[in-house]
Amino acid sequence: MVQKGHHVNVVVPNDYPTFLKWIPGTENIIQFDAQIERAHEILKAADLVFTLDFNALHRSGPMQQVLEGNKAIKIMIDHHQQPEDYAHYTYSDVDMCSTSEMIYHFMDQMGDLALLNKTIGAALYTGIMTDTASFRFPKTTSTTHRVVAHLMDVGVHHSDIHNKVYDANRFEPIKLFGTALNNLTLLADLNTTYITLSQSELNQFGHQKGDTEGLVNYGLSVKGIKFAAIFIENKEEGIIKISLRSKGDFDVNQLARTHFNGGGHQNAAGGKSPLSLEKTVEKFQHLVQTLKSDLQ
Ligand code: 5GP
Repeated sequence: MVQKGHHVNVVVPNDYPTFLKWIPGTENIIQFDAQIERAHEILKAADLVFTLDFNALHRSGPMQQVLEGNKAIKIMIDHHQQPEDYAHYTYSDVDMCSTSEMIYHFMDQMGDLALLNKTIGAALYTGIMTDTASFRFPKTTSTTHRVVAHLMDVGVHHSDIHNKVYDANRFEPIKLFGTALNNLTLLADLNTTYITLSQSELNQFGHQKGDTEGLVNYGLSVKGIKFAAIFIENKEEGIIKISLRSKGDFDVNQLARTHFNGGGHQNAAGGKSPLSLEKTVEKFQHLVQTLKSDLQ
């Protein structure tokens, strides 16, 4: 949109994983919780706000109030289930693999695909690659591959991006993975696994945002497993952050909404618990027992 002469800012509610910070343009991102005044100014002055990759204003955390109060026309682009009705224009498609693919289609509908270049392409490719777990989740379609082919045609280097995102780990998170996998618990009769990470375990390995990304998938990679969860203690916020993953019909979005104040997609959702780590796990164990027939 800069190419179309618009003055554009990107505002995120809080910090995001380091493995994304090489993406061109990220150096200009305004982080709401760290640059409150500047972020307020921008959001208050905006004529148009695109809310991307979430579908309920409370998901923007500390930004919710200013988004509710500003004069901007809002356009939601999102692929999560059960969208709320806050935007003036809603482009919601729960069958899409990623919001990044939707942005490509949006550009297409606007007649702007000629503006696609390597810089935009790198950002879109990263969004599609990470949200599809490298093109393997079921919502990856032949259209997704055609979109990605176009991104490669404009100069996007797929293996370079893969290396930047997945092979640029610090040493400590790999050791943290060791602890997490050691904590992996199998509920064999329920085809379920879960992982716990306490705050002290996170501290031991100098935990930074994004370090636990993808861990829950190890639990789901065990043969026959239909449901995997990870419980990560966050003492500062006084919550346990929960990630849920499933295979097939087992709907973790509904489960997250009903029991853990969260949401997401059928096979990938998240939520939180105000209970202790121990009590949250107890609640989870009890819950899965009641869902036994759906898990077998
Ligand atoms: P993750 O487990 O990777 O944090 O999130 C998986 C999916 O669930 C993502 O699409 C994310 O947007 C969604 N999600 C995670 N946590 C929450 C939550 O607390 N509330 C809602 N509504 N969605 C969440």
